[in-house]
Amino acid sequence: MQLAFYGATDTVTGSRYLLSGQHGGHLLVDCGLFQGLKQLRLRNWDQLPFDVSKIDAVLLTHAHIDHSGFLPRLIKEGFKGRVYCTRSTLALCELLLPDSGRLQEEQAEFENRHKLSKHVQSLPLYTEDDARQALKHFAPVTFDETFSPIEGWSVRFRHAGHILGAASVKVSNGGRSVLFSGDLGRSDDLVMKPPMPPEEADVLVVESTYGDRLHPDGDALAQLADVINRTAARGGQVVIPSFAVGRAQTLLHCISQLKQARRIPDLPVYLNSPMAVDATQIYSHHAGEHRLTAQECDELGHVAKFARTVEESMALNRLRWPSIIISASGMATGGRVLHHLKAYAPDSRCTILFTGHQAAGTRGATLVSGAKTVKIFGEYVPVRAEVANLDMLSAHADRDDLLDWMAAMPRPPSRVYITHGEPVAADALRLAIQDRLGWACEVPEYRQSVKV
Ligand SMILES: [Zn+2]
Repeated sequence: MQLAFYGATDTVTGSRYLLSGQHGGHLLVDCGLFQGLKQLRLRNWDQLPFDVSKIDAVLLTHAHIDHSGFLPRLIKEGFKGRVYCTRSTLALCELLLPDSGRLQEEQAEFENRHKLSKHVQSLPLYTEDDARQALKHFAPVTFDETFSPIEGWSVRFRHAGHILGAASVKVSNGGRSVLFSGDLGRSDDLVMKPPMPPEEADVLVVESTYGDRLHPDGDALAQLADVINRTAARGGQVVIPSFAVGRAQTLLHCISQLKQARRIPDLPVYLNSPMAVDATQIYSHHAGEHRLTAQECDELGHVAKFARTVEESMALNRLRWPSIIISASGMATGGRVLHHLKAYAPDSRCTILFTGHQAAGTRGATLVSGAKTVKIFGEYVPVRAEVANLDMLSAHADRDDLLDWMAAMPRPPSRVYITHGEPVAADALRLAIQDRLGWACEVPEYRQSVKV
């Protein structure tokens, strides 16, 4: 087999790997959108480095847009095959992809209205309708069952723990095999069960989002309670930019527990993301995949008031009493949370609370770095609010989790390729693998192709 890296090489976004068989067959593993720095986002518009009509099938590790968000464009460009993923990933993609198309349309419309684009007219990468068409290509598969997407190839999805439906994927062809970790969850996640141990494989492709970091010891709930309590004492709002899928449900669960234990005041909580509201329901429909009981799932639906309409969303910018607002997107790259940041970032009583890795070039990374202003809708907004990042609520394995997971492989792979990390994190994991496991490993470059 030949393995080519067409994304997630010098970044945590744009996951796309192409496997080509010696005797034919082409499988694309993940088909994500590039996000963050402009030079990365522009890659979404590059001519594709492969012939789309030759791709037989796509294997999708999980629903997050940086893994799935390019699929509607791939289909627009002529992909005719199937997209294999787990059932719960399909259910989440039914929310995420049309929403992504809508955001693309809104962004193009905004740029055209404000003449921000240097192009004559901004166009969306794809529309909401394109995304709905793309969903017709999806074919759900069952965890732990081997299937053959094309003759001579076999594939198996196993629980990766990261979010609902997330999988590691093993692909075998011509007597050789590659295991893709996908985004790996944590062994002690509050909502998701731990990742399944890895299967044996000749080559491993492993993520490295937190390859240079350990999640701090300590009680994530206690830290969350501290942030909420000190903000409430100042009379401010806690604005939490959050992924609609995964992180939002973890936050609701934590807040529900803190309220029940009376560790925080009974202040109003708003979930301002229609998609997160729907995703929360999908979590309750797939109970076997996570740690929450039916009652705890039910509580997720009651701990927050849901804002669905634009009017309800706008009303949240005029709150006068301490409250918690959870809203997408998680790295403040778009979505309703931008309006809340514009409203509350200038207020020193408030807190902007991030809960995971902020990719380079995103507003989230700017804010976490301590910037005094942040650009929102073309305006510089002063940042006087407290900015905090509770990495402890991250849905990603940290460096030691990654090493422990790899060490459980039944035999060492002949080579490890480290992807899905900022350059510093990927390189730190490379050194750690060499030191602790003594395995041959490398950090591949964008568009590099290797023999398996
Ligand atoms: Zn993810």
